[in-house]
Amino acid sequence: NTLHSRLVGPYFQRFGSEDLRRRILPGCVSGDTILAIAMTEPGAGSDLAGMRATAEDRGDHFLLNGSKTYISNGINADIVVVAARLAGADTPRALVLLVVERGMEGFERGRNLKKMGLSAQDTAELFFANVKVPKANLLGEPGRGFYHLMEGLAEERLIAAVGAAANARRAFDVTRDYVMQRVLFGQPLAQQQNTQFRMAELDAEIDLVQTYVDHCVAEHNAGRLTGNMGAKAKMLSTETEWRMMDLGVQLHGGAGYMDEYPISHMFTDARVNRILAGSSEVMRLIIGRDVFSQTYRSLLA
Ligand SMILES: Cc1cc2nc3c(=O)[nH]c(=O)nc-3n(C[C@H](O)[C@H](O)[C@H](O)COP(=O)(O)OP(=O)(O)OC[C@H]3O[C@@H](n4cnc5c(N)ncnc54)[C@H](O)[C@@H]3O)c2cc1C
Repeated sequence: NTLHSRLVGPYFQRFGSEDLRRRILPGCVSGDTILAIAMTEPGAGSDLAGMRATAEDRGDHFLLNGSKTYISNGINADIVVVAARLAGADTPRALVLLVVERGMEGFERGRNLKKMGLSAQDTAELFFANVKVPKANLLGEPGRGFYHLMEGLAEERLIAAVGAAANARRAFDVTRDYVMQRVLFGQPLAQQQNTQFRMAELDAEIDLVQTYVDHCVAEHNAGRLTGNMGAKAKMLSTETEWRMMDLGVQLHGGAGYMDEYPISHMFTDARVNRILAGSSEVMRLIIGRDVFSQTYRSLLA
């Protein structure tokens, strides 16, 4: 899946030693080795500075302690990139990225968490009790982990945006098919002005989102995608996706609430997209910082 190949895999490319890459990546490419990334903790999601897992430098290894939650691929993963605070550092942003492997002593998984949607995907808690992670399994520089995580975020958000825009268009198509077939008050539901107006709005919004996302993809390919653009693409596409899912269920009536209709699954699967990979509120914070950046400080009253 995308998490494995586009979100976690690149960490090895960017920050892994030659030896680590040679050892881990062939299995990732063949599909024998499944990857996950563990940042979130019960007390630290949007605010990663609240992270409590620690990695203590013990010479030839790091001693990892703590727990993580809501980790995608948490059950199936063979390799987990774990973010932890560097023990003894004076700032909460001093993180270490460690490669924890299946079978390492002290590494345990919780149950597969039950979710509202995305039932095909495993999501779990992970526990680390005095796990000895060899220095060879370090990604990047110890203490720079926070910045290493930030480096990939614009692309990660763009990936989320590409998916959300496609989901929105698919939900639009499914809903159009339905309202053209559904007859009430002697005519197809598609003939009602309410249906036409609401669908017209969403058609235009999804087109706009798709155009901006395509622009961001082109900018990314040219090496010009900024964090601000990634945040705008993710916020716009997931919010539009959500409006489309809600309208889709509404126009399906009771059928939209039934599992046998695709829009029902699309609705529950999409709900998380405004939360994970940086919530819409966090996207607004990022965009807001740019709106009121240094350039405009002189305008402050
Ligand atoms: C299905 C699923 C899969 C996931 N997979 C992974 C994974 O593979 N790896 C991983 O590390 N994590 C994963 N997560 C965790 C996900 O990244 C977090 O849930 C997300 O970052 C939000 O953190 P939180 O749940 O702690 O919510 P909180 O951070 O507690 O946020 C609660 C609310 O407060 C809002 N908020 C936050 N900051 C501000 C602010 N400054 N101003 C105003 N409002 C604010 C949020 O937007 C949200 O609405 C996954 C989550 C889910 C649900």
